[in-house]
Amino acid sequence: MKFDSDFTMTIGGKAVAGASSFEVLNPANEKVIARAPDCSRAQLDEAVAAARAAFPAWSATPIEKRREALLAIAGTLAANAEPLKRLLTAEQGKPHDDAAGDILGGAYWCQAISSLDLPVTVVEDTAERRGETRHVPIGVVGAIAPWNFPIVLAMFKVAPALLAGNTVVLKPSPFTPLTTLKVGELLRGVLPDGVLNIVTGGDDLGPWITSHPGIDKVSFTGSTQTGRKVMQSAAATLKRITLELGGNDAAIVMPDVDVEKVAEQLFWAAFKNTGQICIATKRMYVHKDIYEPLKAALVAYAKTVKVGDGAEQGAQLGPIQNRLQYQRVLELIEDARAKGYKFLIGGEKSEAPGYFVPVTIIDNPPEDSRIVQEEQFGPVLPLLKFDDLDDVIARANATPYGLGGSVWTADEDKAAEIASRLATGTVWINESQHLSPLAAFGGHKQSGLGVEGALEGLLEYTNTQTIFLKKAAA
Ligand code: NAD
Repeated sequence: MKFDSDFTMTIGGKAVAGASSFEVLNPANEKVIARAPDCSRAQLDEAVAAARAAFPAWSATPIEKRREALLAIAGTLAANAEPLKRLLTAEQGKPHDDAAGDILGGAYWCQAISSLDLPVTVVEDTAERRGETRHVPIGVVGAIAPWNFPIVLAMFKVAPALLAGNTVVLKPSPFTPLTTLKVGELLRGVLPDGVLNIVTGGDDLGPWITSHPGIDKVSFTGSTQTGRKVMQSAAATLKRITLELGGNDAAIVMPDVDVEKVAEQLFWAAFKNTGQICIATKRMYVHKDIYEPLKAALVAYAKTVKVGDGAEQGAQLGPIQNRLQYQRVLELIEDARAKGYKFLIGGEKSEAPGYFVPVTIIDNPPEDSRIVQEEQFGPVLPLLKFDDLDDVIARANATPYGLGGSVWTADEDKAAEIASRLATGTVWINESQHLSPLAAFGGHKQSGLGVEGALEGLLEYTNTQTIFLKKAAA
């Protein structure tokens, strides 16, 4: 199988060329690497029809067999991680090791989710009646993924949806469709036809999915702005929805940390994947007593980090993934410059091709500045000073977002107290971004609706059904 050409959608287990096609660029050099199929409305109808046709048999397949199917997906991803990672770097921009992490992370997710079970709860058991509540699949799931982690975030949806007995129509981002298309090709014959369909297209395709009468649930990961549109569109047919949206995570760094030790960890909390992570640290609040030494340590570490084409040996941070996001990050840098904020490192624009932005750290900008209030989703970090704990917790919570946050201190009791006061779906203490397939992950406030991972996430792909049995003897 070729991994760098012949990109086709997977509909009903078959290769389907698009009605037309669109260009996919390498963000490191802005060159066209391939054309991806552009799904027409009629082709989406075919994908939904294929998923609906596959649903009765798949939902009736014993869960043990569905577990095996998830393990087969995991095995297929792992066995093809090498060529898939190269393709992912070419379209996404991230370094090869990180691209491998996305593929193998997807495999790990499928494997771990396969161990979950759908519980049955006996709600009544008397001489007169027996009542049981169980969880049944919803039907066809429309899964919509973003461009920052195309494979693992798709598998966050595909694994629980399939385990619960649903069939899926998956749509990757038009910025990163290629690796997902190849995963679809690899899985033809691994899964029964129609169980997992993969479609790619432009800006119309997402809204067609969220409004499609043949789709029963939408699971969406992307920006808060698009999440609102998804919710609105899904309302017309009262689809079930799971929304994993944007964030503006705060890190709170207490004065008792070992500055040299945490500087490197804090750097990666903010800059991994070129800052394009929903749960990246996007605001770093540092206690005034260690502000100066930590600032110096962060800048010194930042100077050692290599930004470059992810396909090149030694590159640790790749480019911004697409032009739109690149322009948005440059706009935030421009705003900071125009307002006269101090840049500790970075901030300059590169004239070379590719969407490269250097590691940029801004020194204590005002709390109401755009770089503090908005989700930058790029390698630009505001470093902020605090003195009073109540004040910094209030600042951390003063955002419409509520995805994640972190606390850094040697005092575990104090950390637990601070964590309990942060209004976010996840809080990390002395680390960041650790996710587990067996822990519920989701956003508070406008960072999302519902969760992924764990039993809670699995149940989002089910309807509950209670069956009462009136006993004959009663
Ligand atoms: P985006 O919202 O632009 O796009 C996400 C997906 O939605 C893409 O596949 C896109 O084609 C599709 N889409 C666009 N408009 C649509 C519409 N009207 N209806 C249906 N689908 C539509 O997001 P992005 O720029 O790809 O990703 C970055 C954002 O995603 C950031 O805000 C980030 O924080 C967030 N994100 C959240 C999580 C999480 O788990 N909470 C994880 C990763 C990224």
